[in-house]
Amino acid sequence: MRIIREPTVYLVGRQSTNNAEIERFLADHRVVAWETDTSVAGEKLCELAGRICYMSFAKPRPGGNAAYLERLLSVGHGSVLEHTAWSFIITGVSRSFTHELVRHRAGFGYSQLSQRYVDESVADFVEPDCIAEDGELHEIWRSAIEHVQEAYVKLVSGLERTFTGVEDQTLRRKLARQAARSVLPNATETKIFVTANARALRHFIELRANEHAETEIRKVASRMCRILQQEAPNIFGDYRFEELPDGTLAARTEYRKV
Ligand SMILES: Cc1cc2nc3c(=O)[nH]c(=O)nc-3n(C[C@H](O)[C@H](O)[C@H](O)COP(=O)(O)OP(=O)(O)OC[C@H]3O[C@@H](n4cnc5c(N)ncnc54)[C@H](O)[C@@H]3O)c2cc1C
Repeated sequence: MRIIREPTVYLVGRQSTNNAEIERFLADHRVVAWETDTSVAGEKLCELAGRICYMSFAKPRPGGNAAYLERLLSVGHGSVLEHTAWSFIITGVSRSFTHELVRHRAGFGYSQLSQRYVDESVADFVEPDCIAEDGELHEIWRSAIEHVQEAYVKLVSGLERTFTGVEDQTLRRKLARQAARSVLPNATETKIFVTANARALRHFIELRANEHAETEIRKVASRMCRILQQEAPNIFGDYRFEELPDGTLAARTEYRKV
């Protein structure tokens, strides 16, 4: 049994632009010259979407893409940020983390490891830091997890006997695993694929990279925020980090919930 203490966040997808079609649109609408100073596709798309609203391609205000997007943030014109999205794979996280994550509905899409199809008899488990750092509590936690894992293995094999009449092997295993998983704890490690647009990601960061959020989701949210600041500084650069007493980070901004 492997015990995990830190989540891993992989940025696996980002937006791209079709510059030829953007040029064709501009030419069709007699925009002689419009260019933006960002090389980030998501930032370019959000600016393009915003400029469509007023057809404000000619004579842009000074400050380039950064100033343009900051103005959108400051006036709360957040719908424009829905035009760009990023995809992440998050691993080394618990089922309690994903239960909280999937409460974020607007602008998010999810695909998560199935406990009906995947054998959890060799699952890893995520231990909260405050338990891991106390020797006595750690032993209580470890022995509870070991006990549960043993029960799961026994239940799967017992249930495979119960469903022995089911000819399809995949279905037989699914029937056994879906019932046996009822004993698995919140600490069971899982993997989730998440796609979200920039507006939804900002809302998620504000709620979850926050001192009121649970520690594990705060760790993930602050990591995603850092990644996104590298990816699209003009959309996420306003967040400032503050270290909390437990060593995790909270993200602050003056442009809350755009
Ligand atoms: C510190 C903390 C503690 C929490 N504790 C609990 C708890 O004890 N119990 C619990 O059940 N949950 C709890 N939650 C979860 C919380 O209630 C939300 O479900 C979660 O944070 C997702 O937020 P959201 O609904 O704003 O996000 P999303 O679902 O992504 O929605 C984003 C925004 O879209 C709008 N929106 C979305 N859906 C609708 C709709 N149907 N109608 C109108 N507007 C909509 C709202 O403006 C919303 O803020 C907690 C969250 C936090 C951060």
